[in-house]
Amino acid sequence: MSAARSTFEEIGRAFREHQRFAILSHVRPDGDALGSQLALALSLKQLGKDVRVWNEDGMLEKYSFLARAQSLTKPPSGPEEVDVAIALDTAIQNRLGTAFQAIRTAKIWINIDHHPSNPGYGDLVYVDPTAPATGQILFELIKSERLPFDRAIAENLYVAISTDTGSFQYPNTTARTFEIAAELVRAGVDVGRINQQVYENYPRRRVELLRELLRTMRFEGGGRVASFSLSLKTAAELGVLPEDNEGLIDHLRAIRGVIVAVFFEELTDGKVRVSMRSKSEKTNVCAICQKFGGGGHTLAAGARVRGSLAEVEQRILEAICNVVGCDS
Ligand code: 5GP
Ligand code: MN
Repeated sequence: MSAARSTFEEIGRAFREHQRFAILSHVRPDGDALGSQLALALSLKQLGKDVRVWNEDGMLEKYSFLARAQSLTKPPSGPEEVDVAIALDTAIQNRLGTAFQAIRTAKIWINIDHHPSNPGYGDLVYVDPTAPATGQILFELIKSERLPFDRAIAENLYVAISTDTGSFQYPNTTARTFEIAAELVRAGVDVGRINQQVYENYPRRRVELLRELLRTMRFEGGGRVASFSLSLKTAAELGVLPEDNEGLIDHLRAIRGVIVAVFFEELTDGKVRVSMRSKSEKTNVCAICQKFGGGGHTLAAGARVRGSLAEVEQRILEAICNVVGCDS
């Protein structure tokens, strides 16, 4: 397990000493990735810095309500001169996508993350696997380095933390998480409004997708393993966007007796995206996903596996059954 190798002080100094920054996060971003990027970008801009905020997939429709969402764009096709590149919430560098190429000239790489599988790439590294969200680490960094902080930054951090803790429900939620949430509310976050935007504003096609997924639902190991899958054909028929399925796996996790929940999504490149959740610290889904070239956290992990939907389903379910003992 990697640990924080640099201090907030060193990172704060790099912020102050340089002028041009690029802030990146992982492909298929979630609320923690996008909220963290925007929060840090807003703070650095208020410090008077030149800040580019790029994500391979651009701003997602579902997070376009975030404060200053429009400042986040897809990366440029050509190279750009920056002094510092900051990777947020990204366990391995290739999940940064093509933005990585655009900033080869960066003099310093800063890696801030909470994935235990993060190997600690970069010059300044702050990886804290005990933090439930990268947004929580950024709050601590902003406060400890007395970086600019306002309501827009607080809103982005609130969404980052809320989405990565499953609305403050997952076991990674600590007393400190609630203390930070209280600080964010004091800074002006409107909890009712923001939760409505995050959790009660889904497009109808997302629920139609859930209906189709539930038709494919299957159980292994006496109900300890639950899975469902999405084919390219069904995705096309429903007209769903990749972002529509974020969180649907929680319907499987929420079933009594289920320990491992799995979602299989057929991709266009001959691979299947596997998304895995565990309800028991004893069942480490990150370790299972790492066997297939993926990674993540003990209770939430993923991988992209080559093969047809049926092949990948079989291989993955077998690997899970080896861990949870489906025969017993
Ligand atoms: P999700 O299932 O929500 O896509 O991802 C859950 C967790 O697993 C996230 O923390 C994410 O970073 C990690 N993860 C998902 N897919 C991959 C992957 O293909 N490779 C790696 N290394 N991590 C992944
Ligand atoms: Mn995260």
